[in-house]
Amino acid sequence: MHTRIAIIGAGFAGLGAAIRLRRRGHDDFVIFERAGELGGTWRDNAYPGCACDVPSQVYSFSFALNPAWSSTYSPQAEIWAYLRECAERFGVRPAIRFGTEVRQAAWDAAEARWRIATSRGEWTADVLIAAGGPLNEPVIPKLPGLETFRGEAFHSSRWDHGVRLAGRRVAVIGTGASAIQIVPAIQPAAGRVTLFQRTPAWVVARGERPLRAWERRMYRSVPGAQRLARTLVYWRTEATVIAFLRPALMRFAQRAAVRNLRRGVKDPALRAKLSPQYRMGCKRILKSDDYYPALARDNVDVVTDPIAEIRPHAVVTRDGTEHPADVIVFGTGFRVTDLPITERIRGRDGRSLAEHWQGSPKAYRGTTVAGFPNLFLLLGPNTGLGHNSVVLMIEAQIAYVLSALDTMRRKGLRAVEPRPEAQARFVAALDKRTATTVWMTGGCSSWYIDATGRNSTMWPGSSWAYRLRLRRFDPAAYREVTA
Ligand code: NAP
Repeated sequence: MHTRIAIIGAGFAGLGAAIRLRRRGHDDFVIFERAGELGGTWRDNAYPGCACDVPSQVYSFSFALNPAWSSTYSPQAEIWAYLRECAERFGVRPAIRFGTEVRQAAWDAAEARWRIATSRGEWTADVLIAAGGPLNEPVIPKLPGLETFRGEAFHSSRWDHGVRLAGRRVAVIGTGASAIQIVPAIQPAAGRVTLFQRTPAWVVARGERPLRAWERRMYRSVPGAQRLARTLVYWRTEATVIAFLRPALMRFAQRAAVRNLRRGVKDPALRAKLSPQYRMGCKRILKSDDYYPALARDNVDVVTDPIAEIRPHAVVTRDGTEHPADVIVFGTGFRVTDLPITERIRGRDGRSLAEHWQGSPKAYRGTTVAGFPNLFLLLGPNTGLGHNSVVLMIEAQIAYVLSALDTMRRKGLRAVEPRPEAQARFVAALDKRTATTVWMTGGCSSWYIDATGRNSTMWPGSSWAYRLRLRRFDPAAYREVTA
């Protein structure tokens, strides 16, 4: 079967692309979704306490503001429902092929189209939009003895809701954005929570509050009210990017985080364990009002000794202590810089993205890749944000794809592919900007940095600058293949 445009993934990015394509008059597209429902990360991450740590006003499509958010930070269930509603409202659900996994997508130079092998048959497409998302392949560390564990063990993004936690001993491994939401949510019911921390995180107060009924009424009925609220939240949030680019400024935010720790934790020994020794922002800055208070409760232990092995009923640390556990929760993150999908997409020379990248993803404007005609990566290399909503980045990229499709139509092009020298220039400028950011100089190790020591994950600038840059397709940077 043939389609003009194939989209991989029905999460925020894939749905956004489909909706904007439809509104621009493109009807010939298909979305391949390996799961049985849409929603991507907001479908998969259903752990207790899961919510967005980016303000709800900026965590929606700009063309579909949501007056129904219940809070200044939306819970997972609401975001997932919002995505399902958007798919219905904009009529893109019928374009989704559920239960269809893309096994391989290879560029056929003779035909100038993508050959796509899925778990449900072969397709061809002129244009491929890869929107699989960076946070979908869970990492579970290979701890010695893990296979001998007699209790239940699962990853935060694969939460087993059938497992009872009340009164039981739960080991939580990791202290990233996921784990710090899980711990306060399970602490009240659990018998004991043992939190295994490798590196403490910087945690600032979230200052969450419910959105009042009158606010929701106003967003619904006063034209422009929610747009204005969004604009204010956007610029307040956007302004913080400066500290990521000029790390000395992080001092001020660090002071607020230290105050937050002092407020939440009175015990000096626990405080010392929770005090980071690197510059704030080097890893994701976490926002929580209930993490520190939860750690201060009697049924919670924070263990900083490294994990040595797992035994049938315990996690054992290197100092030899056995920490009894009935359940292990892995809040240990995702494969990001070596995404499995990159092994499945093959370019003009038959080599995969992974083979081209050799552990260090590089793209032109985070979206297109030399050697891969008519391929657009949503949330590709260097499109992550530490300070604002990635939905803004997704929408900037979608505008670029639409502009590219317009250009192709106008000029009668079969294919466009960034020139290697344009990509190399873009990446060199990006690396230069990155060198002085907090991600490179902050003195931590993080998954933002790839195996070769490059930041291939975060955008070293404002979301505004990115959006301006991607507003229009720039044919001069591209090789064009005519019909
Ligand atoms: P993460 O940020 O990668 O955190 C993983 C945690 O596991 C870290 O604390 C890490 O310690 C620890 N860890 C990894 N391997 C370990 C091992 N072998 N032994 C002990 N500890 C180990 O993962 P995440 O918390 O799932 O978050 C991933 C990303 O998802 C976030 O950065 C964010 O972009 C997104 N997220 C967003 C929200 C939201 O509200 N918007 C919520 C959750 C997640 P080290 O620090 O020492 O490496």
